[in-house]
Amino acid sequence: MGRVDKGVKCSVSGCSRDAVRSLATEKVKSAGLNVGSGQKRVYVCKEHYKEFKKKTKKDKTIDKWRYGA
Ligand SMILES: [Zn+2]
Repeated sequence: MGRVDKGVKCSVSGCSRDAVRSLATEKVKSAGLNVGSGQKRVYVCKEHYKEFKKKTKKDKTIDKWRYGA
């Protein structure tokens, strides 16, 4: 969970806000966010990070079943 350099954009599809966090691609995907694959880490903006946190907190158990993790 590193910090992000200025000027880096959010990796979520259709989003062009500045990124504030870098996260593991797998985790972001399992939170339901639409990010490209092929990279180990993706960048998320403040809004998507909030969404990510919300989903990972709420649906932890369900996501495990749903995604077979
Ligand atoms: Zn975003």
